[in-house]
Amino acid sequence: MVHRPRVVVIGAGFGGLSTAKRLERRAVDVVLIDQHNYHTFQPLLYQVATSGLNPADVAYATRGLFRRQRRVFVRKGLVTGVDWTGQRVLLRDEEPEAFDYLVIAAGSATNYFGIPGADEYAFPLYSLEDAITLRNHILSLFESAAAEPALVDQGVLNFVVVGGGPTGVEVAGALAELIDKVLEGDFHDLDVHRSNVILVEQGPTLLSTFDPKSQAYARRTLEQRGVDVRLNTAVDSITVDHVHFADASSLPTRALVWAAGIRASDLAQRVEATRGRGGRITVEPDLSIPGHANAFAVGDVADIAAGRGGQLPQLAQVAIQGGHHVAEQIMCTIERRPRSPFAYVDKGTMATIGRRAAVAELPRNIRLTGGIAWLAWLGLHLVYLLGVRNRVSVMVNWAWNYLTWDRGPRLILRPEELATTPHPHADGPGSSRSGSRSGGRSTRSPN
Ligand SMILES: Cc1cc2nc3c(=O)[nH]c(=O)nc-3n(C[C@H](O)[C@H](O)[C@H](O)COP(=O)(O)OP(=O)(O)OC[C@H]3O[C@@H](n4cnc5c(N)ncnc54)[C@H](O)[C@@H]3O)c2cc1C
Repeated sequence: MVHRPRVVVIGAGFGGLSTAKRLERRAVDVVLIDQHNYHTFQPLLYQVATSGLNPADVAYATRGLFRRQRRVFVRKGLVTGVDWTGQRVLLRDEEPEAFDYLVIAAGSATNYFGIPGADEYAFPLYSLEDAITLRNHILSLFESAAAEPALVDQGVLNFVVVGGGPTGVEVAGALAELIDKVLEGDFHDLDVHRSNVILVEQGPTLLSTFDPKSQAYARRTLEQRGVDVRLNTAVDSITVDHVHFADASSLPTRALVWAAGIRASDLAQRVEATRGRGGRITVEPDLSIPGHANAFAVGDVADIAAGRGGQLPQLAQVAIQGGHHVAEQIMCTIERRPRSPFAYVDKGTMATIGRRAAVAELPRNIRLTGGIAWLAWLGLHLVYLLGVRNRVSVMVNWAWNYLTWDRGPRLILRPEELATTPHPHADGPGSSRSGSRSGGRSTRSPN
């Protein structure tokens, strides 16, 4: 029997999936390993956290994507390392997986920059579990305040979002909308307007990688919608019921959302390889790992040089295009054709602020703000969502929310014992807890 080269792909995110999809009809066997049995569409996690969408709308069962591809084998498992000498991927509690070619696409994790208390008390937003935990907590705080209104004076309805990048802007905008337009009606026995959404950014602007006009628009719109935007404000420490700032001021809160930074996933630290910014795996121009011509790193986990000493940002498009590229490099090697360097095509960046408000910066210096940018944002996210069912469900949810001002799933699925105490962080393999220093995600839209 002819030996089919075995390509092992670690991670079923944007990078891993695009690699596997590009290889599914080629003369190779693909083994796609992920700790979850589903792909998560991270750009819409904030809508799950703020009761805009159902968790199942932003996730897709990985096996379902390859049900007709008999040479793609999906495996659920947690990868713990790579045995370079034996050319095997090591898994927790399972047999190792041998490879001829390896693609590491393990993504990133939350970065708390070593800020005291952040690991214990901040809410990350990196996985589906994070989004559900945050939604439970937000809704539980309102329930607690309704039961005991005196808690409002203790800051129970102060929602602090740390990080003025796209994720922070989106979370703050969506939270303000949820409270002002939806919970206000749900909790008619509570003065919901005593709640505050505070967006904290240590730099001098929001959306630092965007044009100043887009930055000003984002700030103005958030403030008009009731968000208290605090620039040049650095978090110093977080406790069970307060956030303390570098200027010695503090704010009572029981819900602090951390949208301030990411680093390479834990796996990057476990693999014997050179690491760059944020612990990301350094790669050659063709995205192979130095010293291992048959192994590649793509997406958030890879430190990809972008010229002039910079690196490519951690964005869906970088991961998708990187995945396609390494699939082609693997086929070039098998077919004895020369490899080529990765050339990223920037298709633009976007961030949404809320209903009929977004910023979009597209190639050829096209800059959009307001309703038209928002429509572009909606359309693009629908295009890149996986699965027709998910697209239809998201579209129906968005149309319903838009027409009725009624958000969908305001369900507390795992009631916390006492909402006013710290949240029960999930520490399982899906959790995005713990961190070390690195840069954050700068710009986005999965276009
Ligand atoms: C809240 C949020 C909003 C975002 N919004 C945007 C946006 O609007 N536009 C945009 O372009 N980008 C956005 N991004 C960034 C974008 O989602 C990432 O750049 C993209 O997901 C990177 O793809 P990836 O394949 O490298 O990693 P991921 O999509 O994170 O996939 C990594 C996969 O690897 C798996 N994995 C990790 N470690 C292991 C292990 N040890 N064993 C097995 N499996 C493992 C994970 O389970 C995961 O499925 C956002 C990110 C977040 C968190």
